Amino acid sequence: VIELGQPEHSVITTCAYCGVGCGFKAEMKGNTVVRMVPWKDGKANEGHSCVKGRFAWGYATHADRITTPMIRERITDPWREVSWDEAIGFAAGRFKAIQAQYGKDSVGGITSSRCTNEEVYLVQKLIRAAFNTNNVDTCARVCHSPTGYGMGQTFGTSAGTQTFKSVEQADVIVVIGANPTDAHPVFASRMKRRLRSDGSVAGKARLVVVDPRRIDLVKSPHVRADHHLALKPGTNVAVITAMAHVVVTEGLVNEAYVAERCETKSFNDWRAFVSRPENSPEAFEAVTGVPAAEVRAAARLYAAGPNSAIYYGLGVTEHAQGSTMVMGIANLAMACGMVGREGVGVNPLRGQNNVQGSCDMGSFPHELPGYRHISDSTVRGQFEAAWGVTLSPEPGLRIPNMFEAALDGSFRGLYCQGEDIVQSDPNTQHVAAALEKMDCIVVQDIFLNETAKYAHVFLPGSSFLEKDGTFTNAERRISRVRQVMPPMSGLGDWEVTARLSTALGYPMHYEHPEQIMQEIAALTPSFAGVNYAKIERLGSVQWPCNSNTDEAGTAIMHREQFVRGKGKFFVTQYVASDEKVTRRFPLLLTTGRILSQYNVGAQTRRTPNNQWHDEDLLELHPHDAEERGVKDGDWVGIQSRAGETVLRARVSERMQPGVVYTTFHFPESGANVITTDSSDWATNCPEYKVTAVQVMPVSQP
Ligand code: SF4
Repeated sequence: VIELGQPEHSVITTCAYCGVGCGFKAEMKGNTVVRMVPWKDGKANEGHSCVKGRFAWGYATHADRITTPMIRERITDPWREVSWDEAIGFAAGRFKAIQAQYGKDSVGGITSSRCTNEEVYLVQKLIRAAFNTNNVDTCARVCHSPTGYGMGQTFGTSAGTQTFKSVEQADVIVVIGANPTDAHPVFASRMKRRLRSDGSVAGKARLVVVDPRRIDLVKSPHVRADHHLALKPGTNVAVITAMAHVVVTEGLVNEAYVAERCETKSFNDWRAFVSRPENSPEAFEAVTGVPAAEVRAAARLYAAGPNSAIYYGLGVTEHAQGSTMVMGIANLAMACGMVGREGVGVNPLRGQNNVQGSCDMGSFPHELPGYRHISDSTVRGQFEAAWGVTLSPEPGLRIPNMFEAALDGSFRGLYCQGEDIVQSDPNTQHVAAALEKMDCIVVQDIFLNETAKYAHVFLPGSSFLEKDGTFTNAERRISRVRQVMPPMSGLGDWEVTARLSTALGYPMHYEHPEQIMQEIAALTPSFAGVNYAKIERLGSVQWPCNSNTDEAGTAIMHREQFVRGKGKFFVTQYVASDEKVTRRFPLLLTTGRILSQYNVGAQTRRTPNNQWHDEDLLELHPHDAEERGVKDGDWVGIQSRAGETVLRARVSERMQPGVVYTTFHFPESGANVITTDSSDWATNCPEYKVTAVQVMPVSQP
């Protein structure tokens, strides 16, 4: 403020980091941001913010920004700066040549959860209409795709059931595989206000934390969990099934709710399954490492409510049984009657600002916008009529399948917008080998990221300060992202996609992202009532938003009935992870985030936030450290079945013996060099949270 002077005007926009979706006022002097002030009327944050949204926006104008398109014949050639026309013509020519030789399904694209709904919609339209293939996937594949599957199967749609505000009416809060203090700080503050003992214990909510680590919520100066189920990584399904066993065998089922709201046969099958002795907390104690008494107490607390709410994160989804666990959570919530009113619900905490939106906009290979299956001829017909093309009814390739197909030579061209797959996807060596085999990789990003090392075309992208459009947060809230400064490259991301489509022979003409939203609303029933004028007037709306809902949409889902009609129970058979500890790999590695950094760090590492945390560390329990002769701050080598890397050690009582932990914010730390190819059985979401490793002291690298 002192250096840049006082602001002259301000623009209301939305934070580009996590799925809380805080509203901010960008205070400006000319085209320069002076500061970001949390917006007091923002419904997700009500004037609050965290160190990312408040201070970490300077990356948007960082000197590393690439603002000129670049091309090269081979990835070993130097980049050559060219005009937009030449870059787009080069990319279109390569894609056309590949499809002519290898067929239309030899190319595909990846959408980004950091881009707006309008940009994501346009990329999936480009892939389906211009490329005429369903080979489109989203970076949500590696985080919340099991949420899509699990909640879709049980409730009928893939979205958090509540508003954030609903937590204020919860009597019992269950946090599973999430660390909101670091990853969703503004929501964590709201949750902590509900949990805090302010001298009068009466009235505060009770808390259950299910997490291998002793995260901040378990014990901090103002909050203490009633029960911490410190499970072994990979045993979520055993814990949730054991909790269900307690609910069923101790007569805690909300029979009236189940009879009215759920499918009887599926409930009876599930009840018979979880009642078995082998699914009791005692039977699972050796598997999970959680004392049976703790599981029983947590289950009784949840069932008693009266209002119990579950919040979960990637510690639920990024497992070989991620989808099973999401269904297990939904089962428990339905059995106890904890869906469909304020203070209850099942709430996935979305990591990136627009994960919800990128999934909503049809960027899964089997779904058109609004989660409608590509095989549904009626829905497909609506899009065919609107887009003037014929669509294949067959689902396309998921991201891991694209890599497999690249290695066998049948997938040869990729358009990757706003996603650094080399750093963020598991088993880096495997990803790199697949990319090296392709004939055309187009990367559209604001920085020359790790994936760009394998690219033939680099299309400069725009930061959130240069975008016009909407983001959808973890409570389905659609908020405006407003342009604060013109795109540094001269073109917005949506304009680049439209130009590429036109060069491919499928003309796209839009004057403004608002027209794209009008098209989305016309083709997507849950968005039918969404428009910019309404968002301008109300501040935000929540989908479903149409003629059947309030003007501002739907705050609480599944009130009268589930989206699918009756809620459906699924049997959740626990299956042990393939990542087993052995004498060679005796520890289990799990991963997560810290407050000041964000995902692969491309943004936060280029801001003052780096001063608080400038390297990834390996946390390990004092017992494991002592056994290996490792002291706090020593360098350690970490070896898994996939690869090895070196990090500095942090000896921490937060860890349980036998479990180690690291973050993944720095490319040089190579966290994903050691994660393996194991993935969720239903969605291929990688099992980032369970890797068997050995840790040994090494000299400084
Ligand atoms: Fe941004 Fe999330 Fe922090 Fe809010 S809580 S300011 S959305 S990073």
